[in-house]
Amino acid sequence: MALGIDMGIGMTSAGTRQRLVRRLEEKGIRDQRVLQAIATVPRHRFVDEALSSRSYEDSALPIGRGQTISQPYVVALMTEAILGDKLPDKVLEIGTGSGYQAAVLAQLCRQVFTTERIGELLRTARQRFHELGLHNIYTRHADGLGGWPSQAPFDAIVVTAGGHIPDTLPEQLVDGGILVAPEQRGSIQELVRIRRYGDEFVKEDLCPVSFVPLLGGLE
Ligand code: SAH
Repeated sequence: MALGIDMGIGMTSAGTRQRLVRRLEEKGIRDQRVLQAIATVPRHRFVDEALSSRSYEDSALPIGRGQTISQPYVVALMTEAILGDKLPDKVLEIGTGSGYQAAVLAQLCRQVFTTERIGELLRTARQRFHELGLHNIYTRHADGLGGWPSQAPFDAIVVTAGGHIPDTLPEQLVDGGILVAPEQRGSIQELVRIRRYGDEFVKEDLCPVSFVPLLGGLE
């Protein structure tokens, strides 16, 4: 490989990504569809160039405006949590951030709708989707607490910021749909999964997590 090209992708090659996938497997991610999606998405393209050498570590990294790109393990866990035997067709994400979680979902789902309240972050994420040819991601500069009523119902909803989960979100699920979200409980957050059965909503705790806060309004 020519030196110039290698300089660009050496730290960020498919081999490096494969090591991350093995680490996630060791941590308990079993779904091959999720592992394949993580192996496909170039996470280094979702962080600032200065951080790209760290982009395949299993850690959250700063993306500006006090926000973070989620830890790969948590992205994998949330993605695994919404998959059944059948892949969800239409998914809503609250909190686009870097766009990485949306890009992972876009490998598995036909349509990904994602909302972000900070315009500057959304512009950067949109540019990345465009450059990577991710044409099945639809973005909106909006407060995601209201969901995306004109596109509802969704097979799955993924909330990537921690807070109180408003009823409007699970109400935008199809019957049999699944929502995963970090729920704030005092000073801790618990990743919860809510399944919709008709008008019933059944919630289960998955594990403790640590996300940036879910905030109202636009920036
Ligand atoms: N999924 C992102 C994680 C980014 S961190 C990724 O893979 O990089 C969470 C993001 O949620 C932040 O960018 C934050 O601005 C956004 N956010 C917080 N509250 C929100 C709300 N009510 N509506 C939309 N986005 C929100």
